[in-house]
Amino acid sequence: MTGTERRFISVPRLAGIGGLVHGFGRAGWSEADFLAFAASRGVKPVIMRQLHSDVVHRLDEAPSAKLEGDALMTNKSGLLLVIRTADCLPVLIVDEANRAVAVVHCGWRGTEKRILEKTIMAMGEAYGSKPAEMLAALGPCIGGSCYEVGPEVRDGFLRAGFPEAFFALRGHVPEVHVPRQSPRQSGQPYNLARQGREQDRTKIWGHVPEVRVPLLKPKFLLDLRAANAWLLCELGFKKGHIFEPGPACTHCEPTLLSYRRNPHDPRRMYNFIGLKP
Ligand SMILES: [Zn+2]
Repeated sequence: MTGTERRFISVPRLAGIGGLVHGFGRAGWSEADFLAFAASRGVKPVIMRQLHSDVVHRLDEAPSAKLEGDALMTNKSGLLLVIRTADCLPVLIVDEANRAVAVVHCGWRGTEKRILEKTIMAMGEAYGSKPAEMLAALGPCIGGSCYEVGPEVRDGFLRAGFPEAFFALRGHVPEVHVPRQSPRQSGQPYNLARQGREQDRTKIWGHVPEVRVPLLKPKFLLDLRAANAWLLCELGFKKGHIFEPGPACTHCEPTLLSYRRNPHDPRRMYNFIGLKP
């Protein structure tokens, strides 16, 4: 690992574009390190308050107040667009032809709201960007083997038009076996209220030896990166224009930060893209 690789991960194809500065920060790269790096490149970092929303900001100059949202785009030099992550997917977008860039925060909430699609559409309107000519870099995020979500997340994605292929059922659905047993049979003290309930149940379940009740809701594993790569291809991105640098999973890779692995660690990784003045 070179000095640069220890601080952040970059994509050779993007590094070859003149005037472009980009990267996906690692765990050991502090905010102070990041700000010093930005200053050394002559670019002004724009750090939002991230909300897991689908709010996209178009920047023509550095904002005067802290912005709230989850995507930034610009075609102006001198700004460094930033997304901070620990498990969520950071996406960098480049339109070389129109010299425009964007950064997008894709957690499960933003992905379900199709924030990546909304950013690409906004770049089309603002800069005339065409998906078939654009480049995308999907940074490290929590991997498809580690990102457990509930059935409500899967339901939301299906409603938003995502294929179910991005969800794997985690293990089996456990059941608890409740023996059908009256208080009298088990020798427990008899109680009139319980007696009433027991009679009702016997009426309904009289012929069933035991009742099976699901103990836990099913859990799924979500492949966040694959879901967003699919969205890009649906929009017209070429597969060869989608880059996935760095380790496959923040949760498994010790040089990256993972909220799921360590929820008490307040640090975040700095992911950035901008045009040098
Ligand atoms: Zn993992």
